[in-house]
Amino acid sequence: MELAAGLEIPPKRKNKDRIVLQSALRGESAFILPCFKIIFNIMLIIDTHAHVNFNAFSGDAEKVIDRSLLENFWIINVGSQYQTSRRAVELAEKYKEGVYAAIGMHPIHVETGVFKPKMDPEELVADKEKESEFDIEKYKALASSKKVIAIGETGLDFYYRPKTKTRQEVFKLRQREVFFEHLKLAKELNLPVIFHCRMAHDDLIEILEKNPGLQGVIHCFTGTLKQAERYVKMGFYIGLNGVIFKLNLDDVIRMVPLDKVLVETDCPYLTPPEAGVKRNEPIFVKYVVKKIAELRNLSYEEVAKETCENARKLFRI
Ligand SMILES: [Zn+2]
Repeated sequence: MELAAGLEIPPKRKNKDRIVLQSALRGESAFILPCFKIIFNIMLIIDTHAHVNFNAFSGDAEKVIDRSLLENFWIINVGSQYQTSRRAVELAEKYKEGVYAAIGMHPIHVETGVFKPKMDPEELVADKEKESEFDIEKYKALASSKKVIAIGETGLDFYYRPKTKTRQEVFKLRQREVFFEHLKLAKELNLPVIFHCRMAHDDLIEILEKNPGLQGVIHCFTGTLKQAERYVKMGFYIGLNGVIFKLNLDDVIRMVPLDKVLVETDCPYLTPPEAGVKRNEPIFVKYVVKKIAELRNLSYEEVAKETCENARKLFRI
């Protein structure tokens, strides 16, 4: 078992420790787990954007979560519509600590009436519950769980879009309307927002500059350094994940103040190549931490510690 700080449990102890730890994770021991973690100096890292609530994990979600908690990786599962938001809450409710939920409707699920993006079988358990409208009351009811620590993912996604200009205008307008509903909910519940933004950073920045008083993270950041700086100036965090192994975001990684950086996986997507498997999962966030540390000339531990503190501060966990 590879640990966050590169430490190994001595082989003879592995099975016994694993059983003790697994019961501790379920809240059966409030004492053994912290002691174990202190003895083995396991660092806490928070995967601030995971989708263990998605269909890709339907057969082994709890195993994946147990494995993560065992190695001291906490998880925020993020909803992409009502069904996956509810699943995120259900999973979080099963654990005493370390598993949290964000609830919201991803912009690609907004019913625009002018464009139908392809459904992703990795994401949805079934299509029958797909909502045609964003029902704010339903989401508000979900937020009664103490494990709901953010609204999202919500935002703007203009990557797949209709071809004609008139349709594009309707498409963008509908996404904005639903996005504003999320902002209203976040303000009402006093929760931070997990923003999804693809091919729309200038639009998002303009909206956020006109709507002060929000807190949150620009998840899976793929914009320019200038755009990152504008978000940071408004107090937002920049979420970095495995996309940094696909696109060159080195300048952003080096220049954004570390106290504004969060790490995430967006699993099951964007698997870091070093993981050596197809499906991403929360423990692989360590490769993102490693790359940030290399580019900034810091130790793995420094990046792990600071990004973890950032996540705890923003999401109040
Ligand atoms: Zn996501």
